Amino acid sequence: MCKKFQKAIIKVISTMTKHENVNLSIDFHVHVDERVKYWEIPNVLRARSIDGVGILTHNDFRFAKKIVDKFREKDKKKVYFAGVEIDTADGHLVAYGINQEIPRDRSAEETVEIIRDLGGVSIIPHPLMSHNSIGWKSYIVKADAMEFYNGFAKIFFNFPNYMAEVSFRHKSFGRVGGSDAHFAKAIGTCYTLVDTNGVRTEEEILEALRKHKTIPKIKPIDFYDIRNAFAIAFTPKTGRRIVRF
Ligand SMILES: [Zn+2]
Ligand SMILES: [Zn+2]
Repeated sequence: MCKKFQKAIIKVISTMTKHENVNLSIDFHVHVDERVKYWEIPNVLRARSIDGVGILTHNDFRFAKKIVDKFREKDKKKVYFAGVEIDTADGHLVAYGINQEIPRDRSAEETVEIIRDLGGVSIIPHPLMSHNSIGWKSYIVKADAMEFYNGFAKIFFNFPNYMAEVSFRHKSFGRVGGSDAHFAKAIGTCYTLVDTNGVRTEEEILEALRKHKTIPKIKPIDFYDIRNAFAIAFTPKTGRRIVRF
C-alpha cells in the first residue's frame, strides 16, 4: 500500500515537472547559390529532423528571398527565412531579419551598424577560416552572434572551429552552428538549438538569437561534409537561377 502511494506521488510529480522540448533545431547557414539543388532542401530537413533553415546567398538577398517565399508556399511544416552573406571589406558577414540589399565592401563594423539600423541580426560566420573571414577583428566587431561551429571547417580537422571557441568564448556573442551547405544533403552537419518556447516563426528565432538563447551543435564528419567541401571549392560562380519546383 505504502509503495503504491509512493509510486502515485512520483507519477504526479513527474507529470508536473515534465515539459516539452521547446528547442528548435535550426541550420543558420544554408546556401542557394549557383548550382545548389535547393528544391531538395525540404526533403533533407525531414530526413534530418531539422526544424528550419536560414537561406543565404552571397551578396544577393533578393534571390534568397524568392526561394524562401516558394518554400513557405510549399512546406508549412518547416521554418524558412532569408538572409544574405555579405562580402565586407574585412570578410564575410551574415544578415537576417532585413528586407533589402546590404551594401558590400564596407567595413565589418559599418555593415553591422547598417544591419542593426534596419532591424536585422548580424552573425560573424567562420571567424577564423581564411581570407574570407573577419578574423581577429571580430574582437571589436559588435555583431549579435558568431558561428562557433561551421560545417566547412570540419574538413580542416575542425581546427578553425576549435580556434574560434578558444579565442572568442568570453566575448558576448550569441552562439550558432551552421553547415555552410553549398550541397543540399550537407544541411544539418552543424546546426543550432534555439529556445523559442515552442514558437516556430522567423521573428521568434531571431529574437532568441538576440537574447543568446541558442546552443551550437556539431556532428562528426561524414561523407556529406567532404562532398560539400568540393562544392564550395569547385562550383563555378555562375548560373544562379530560379527553377520551378
Ligand atoms: Zn562565408
Ligand atoms: Zn557561407
